[in-house]
Amino acid sequence: MNKTPKEILSKYWGFDSFRGSQEEIINAISNGQDVLGLLPTGGGKSLCFQVPALMKEGICIVISPLIALIENQVNNLQKLGIKALGLKGGLKFAEIDKLLDNCIYGNYKFLYLSPERLQQELVQERIKAMNVSMFVIDEAHCISQWGHDFRPAYLGCSILRELHPAPPVIALTATATKRVSDDIIKSLHLTYPFVVKDTFFRKNIGFEVITTEDKNGRLKQYCQQITHSAIIYVRSRRKAEELSRYLVQNNLKATFYHGGIDQKKKTERLNIWLEDKVQIMVATNAFGMGIDKPDVELIVHYQIPDSLENYFQEAGRAGRNGDFSKAILLTNTTDKILVKKQFIEILPDVAYVKMIYKKLNTYFQIGYGEFTETKFHLNFNEFCSIYKLNTFLTYNALQLLDRNSVISLSENFSKKITIKFVTEKDTLYRYIDNNLKLAEFIKVVLRTYGGLFEFDTQINTYLLSKKTSLSEALIHKNFEQLAKDEIIEYQSVSSDLEMVFLVPRDDDRTINMFAKNIEEQNQLKIEKVTKMLNFIENDTVCRSIQLLAYFGEVQENECGICDVCISQKTGNTHIVHAKIKIIQLLKEKSANSKELQVQLKVTQEVLIMAIQELLEDNIISLNTTNEYQLL
Ligand code: ADP
Ligand code: MG
Repeated sequence: MNKTPKEILSKYWGFDSFRGSQEEIINAISNGQDVLGLLPTGGGKSLCFQVPALMKEGICIVISPLIALIENQVNNLQKLGIKALGLKGGLKFAEIDKLLDNCIYGNYKFLYLSPERLQQELVQERIKAMNVSMFVIDEAHCISQWGHDFRPAYLGCSILRELHPAPPVIALTATATKRVSDDIIKSLHLTYPFVVKDTFFRKNIGFEVITTEDKNGRLKQYCQQITHSAIIYVRSRRKAEELSRYLVQNNLKATFYHGGIDQKKKTERLNIWLEDKVQIMVATNAFGMGIDKPDVELIVHYQIPDSLENYFQEAGRAGRNGDFSKAILLTNTTDKILVKKQFIEILPDVAYVKMIYKKLNTYFQIGYGEFTETKFHLNFNEFCSIYKLNTFLTYNALQLLDRNSVISLSENFSKKITIKFVTEKDTLYRYIDNNLKLAEFIKVVLRTYGGLFEFDTQINTYLLSKKTSLSEALIHKNFEQLAKDEIIEYQSVSSDLEMVFLVPRDDDRTINMFAKNIEEQNQLKIEKVTKMLNFIENDTVCRSIQLLAYFGEVQENECGICDVCISQKTGNTHIVHAKIKIIQLLKEKSANSKELQVQLKVTQEVLIMAIQELLEDNIISLNTTNEYQLL
């Protein structure tokens, strides 16, 4: 070893210099200092820890939020001949056991895992036995409830310090509001961290906000112009499928991605997109975090995102290779009203939560001051219709009560479950040895039912609850855990909502305990949406300047390539001239955009704007061979 950071950079990655604060971060890590690195999307956060990890003895443990992300990074490292390993979903206990052993004895340099995995006893035990060079928390904003991707499991990352107090902890994110970074430092117990923030200015992305009543038509045009990759962001799963279909019908290579498709399909689709077999990914915000494709030249937001954080992070996936690229937000007159409806009007306020709480008590006939441990079955739709309640608001209010430990809500309550053991007995015994929490439970199950290794067996959770003195809810959880670890196969038929009251009825006072928190969270959401809408409406200040200001950065120079800058730069005269010339040319014969550009000798920006205006005004159209013609 004993190589310098630069030598490592060029030996493995073939790059000759560091970007932004990479080198400073690497030096801090080398000196054993904790780090909070706030670098924009595409800023090169991975190298900040990958380079020093190769300089140090031991293994670098990386917590990362998404399986796809883990796979992508591990594959990239493996391609470079670096020993890296990721704990994927759907691994059997025995496999994890073996993989972690490999880490300890096999001289691995990187272990990637999700925050949920980190909570497993076995995983923690094994990490304790490893020679850890550093801990990395990627996408660290997930730890903060002020961030936009709050993920409760991330709070569990603080355990790392207990497992190994010595190695430095590196937190990295592209979300840089003050509140979020303070939260990260606090939650991860970073000690005297080296905090560094690089500029979030992305000089090669042209941000545009376009108002049009024909979003589909516009979308199609943009997609037809690309030569590399694009991502189209939508807010609903249905819309993702619908738009993808629309683009395919228009002879474009598109597919879709959202939280509702199974893991295998997700990986498949991500891969065909990464390998350029399809160019366009239509997706909800489930797609993209940390995905590193250098040649994305177009990001379209087909619907308005709920915050500038989300917008900027998604748009920032364009142009990682430094090439000119576009981030276009398509909007129309009804969108803004819709956004308010979808994001703001569904936020229950304190009075509403109080009202719902009272109605729940009335519905279940619970008296004032009474505390009941009964498990209630809530027919949600009936409840809403009896009291004439808005379902979204009510659902959110119930979630709020759950989050604040007034009630405990489970959606997957199932009356009927069947299980079957799918491991070898040896593996099961090892599992039991390593999971003392579940050992007794498994033994009772095995004693109660015969044939569990041969057949699907129906389980009576009530009976098990008596035998084990565990609540039925916990029994369900235990089975879920066993299924996750692939010790058993588990099926359940779910019914409606099930709920338990966790505190005696005290009406308003129960809610007052966290009223401030409700107000704050609501306020925060409203503020975020409002800022997003302001950004859309403000067409006098350079888009990049507006975005950076939101992240607390003062940017003096205009980007020169956003819709605001372009309209100021060209005025309208260039476009008007271009339009006249295009009409003249098309009178003679139809032509594609390349041919037009050669003839017109204007910038691509002006040409595109001119063509778009002509299309919108129905003066020209695009024919089946991708040529423009007069109408
Ligand atoms: P982030 O996690 O900050 O969004 P990544 O770590 O995924 O960004 O890096 C984005 C891209 O930039 C990758 O393709 C990476 O190889 C490239 N990159 C990072 N650092 C450098 C560098 N110093 N020189 C050239 N390319 C780099
Ligand atoms: Mg990253």
